[in-house]
Amino acid sequence: MSITRRHWMAGTAAMASAQTAAGKFVAVSSSNGLRACTKAMEMMRAGTDTLDAVIAGVNINEEDPEDDSVGYGGLPNEEGVVELDACVMHGPTRRAGSVASLRNIKTPSKIAKLVMEQTDHIMMVGEGALRFAKAYGFKEENLLTEKSRLAWLMWKRSLRDAGGHNNWTDGLDAPAGKPSAALRGMFPGIGEELLAYAWDRAQHPPTGTINCLGLNAKGEISGVTTTSGLAWKIPGRVGDSPIIGAGLYVDPDVGGAGSTGRGEENIRVAGAHTIVENMRHGMTPKDACLDALKRISRNYGDDLTRLSQFDINFYALRKDGAFAGASLWSGVYRRDQFRPRQFTCNDGGKSRLENCAFLYERKRP
Ligand code: ASP
Repeated sequence: MSITRRHWMAGTAAMASAQTAAGKFVAVSSSNGLRACTKAMEMMRAGTDTLDAVIAGVNINEEDPEDDSVGYGGLPNEEGVVELDACVMHGPTRRAGSVASLRNIKTPSKIAKLVMEQTDHIMMVGEGALRFAKAYGFKEENLLTEKSRLAWLMWKRSLRDAGGHNNWTDGLDAPAGKPSAALRGMFPGIGEELLAYAWDRAQHPPTGTINCLGLNAKGEISGVTTTSGLAWKIPGRVGDSPIIGAGLYVDPDVGGAGSTGRGEENIRVAGAHTIVENMRHGMTPKDACLDALKRISRNYGDDLTRLSQFDINFYALRKDGAFAGASLWSGVYRRDQFRPRQFTCNDGGKSRLENCAFLYERKRP
């Protein structure tokens, strides 16, 4: 398709406005980012560098055992080992750093920043990334909490071969009794609520991640994405989160974008980079995100049955302070309750959740 003069002019005008510093502070994040946005805003207002501010924001989630999609307490791989991915981009210096399949370190975002600052590399993975983190004084810790271990065990026990058998459940010779009673014995004090949580996680392997983008009054912008990735993944699987251009992209001339959700789909459309390029050529943050979602839909020939099996969300923050969140589906139904997909933003005052724009409306199952 040829670019008409009108399109070109529109793009140029939008680019000019995007290149103007907004003179305001804005933080944008995934729906689990209320605390991260508040922290990032506080720090940016106090004069902290935008990257340090967003990293400090997501460190809250990384260190929180209750967030089972990021850092400590993140759901593990199929062998019960937590493997973390993260990347950072620093707008003012146009630098980037990333780690993937990192074990035993709670805060992979900090290691990604170290890779950016202290090496001539951009991405480090696995054992090498761990040794690098230890060289900088980071302590190895067990990232599996009792809660995430229970969820993993429940998942192992829920698997069946073609004959309906699973070696991880009570043997044929086991005394009769409910399997949940056996699990309760292994996790003393476990209540119905925790058991229901672990069962739900086992049945619906969750994805989850936090992305946070921060803009200061000087028009400086940075971003971070950090995750424990897909629960029960094959060891060594890497999603989009640590991939510069997929899970995160920042161009200080235009803005930044990030993603959460099924990483495999995002990698195939280089989502964050696509969104930033879309904004460079004049699209609003919302349209830029929706265009990336259309590319994902196109990869499935717009087949809604197949597309309905996953979700993916994009977040965009333009240099002039305009922002958006958009998801493939309008939301999810859980126990007959509709929950809209949301994202977090703070452009002054309190951090708040807003509904994402979406490509497709989720129908009641
Ligand atoms: N994007 C992450 C991954 O694929 C997971 C998620 O955000 O839910 O590893």
